[in-house]
Amino acid sequence: MCGCNADGPGDGGVPGSPPGGTTGGTGLCCACPASGTVDRDGHRNYYTTTGYAGSRPKTNKCSIDIVRTARAGTVTVSTAFHMTYINTATAAADGSTVTSAISTAMTNWTGGASAYKLKIEQPGCDPQELTIVFTSTTAASASAADVQVTVDGTSTGPSSVRNGTRMTFKLAGEGSSASWNMTHETGHTFGLPDEYSELTGVPIVPAPTTPGAPTITAPTPAPTTTYIGAPPQANVTITQQPWQPSPRTPGMYMFDNPTVMGKYGNTTYPAYLFYWIAIEVSAILAAEGSPSVVTII
Ligand SMILES: [Zn+2]
Repeated sequence: MCGCNADGPGDGGVPGSPPGGTTGGTGLCCACPASGTVDRDGHRNYYTTTGYAGSRPKTNKCSIDIVRTARAGTVTVSTAFHMTYINTATAAADGSTVTSAISTAMTNWTGGASAYKLKIEQPGCDPQELTIVFTSTTAASASAADVQVTVDGTSTGPSSVRNGTRMTFKLAGEGSSASWNMTHETGHTFGLPDEYSELTGVPIVPAPTTPGAPTITAPTPAPTTTYIGAPPQANVTITQQPWQPSPRTPGMYMFDNPTVMGKYGNTTYPAYLFYWIAIEVSAILAAEGSPSVVTII
């Protein structure tokens, strides 16, 4: 269904001729829906890092559906997961635990995004402010999945994601941490980086004589992560916060940022964690013949 162009001059609409096309690269009408699939490495496309290793690929695979009214709408990010089971885990016994954890993670991301809107300024249309929603589906096969999940029944430790698309969900290691861990890990499936790091510490000279006192301090400068905004949204650079000497790796110092992609248990969702959606929606609209300004507000 199309229509819903700007009402007339002086109403705050985006300058331009009202578009009358439909899907297929012909210039979407203002309320036309649009969809696309994402398969992109977040590093250098969504963010860059300085001062620490942040270069491992984090491929974001998902689908995006844009549904619009004259001035509002919804942008839905949907990720398809496929599970395989190892080390005593089975689909029958553990499938619901995993899908429930993923579902909760998506609910958490939707909640985090509720403080913001995705703003589309398409020429000839009224500006639209869309609600951002995250959801998940279960893929029938591994090849049809965005993210392949190995459900491990016995290994301990937290779950993890390699390359953005291969998750290991450790049933025995999660316990009460499952909800936050899964939320953090799904962030990686969106191509987002960790906001923590470990760097070689600077020895304190002379070494302290108090038993148990730290012998290293934070190196400078602190590592930074720059989140890339969809033009004209400005990039945002965060500086990781010095935290403490690593308890596990002698000589290393830990940096950690108080967000869901950083400090364990933190549930802060800065706007920049959603910039990638504006980047991808901008690409989808351009492919439909409707280059638009898309930002997170
Ligand atoms: Zn992580």
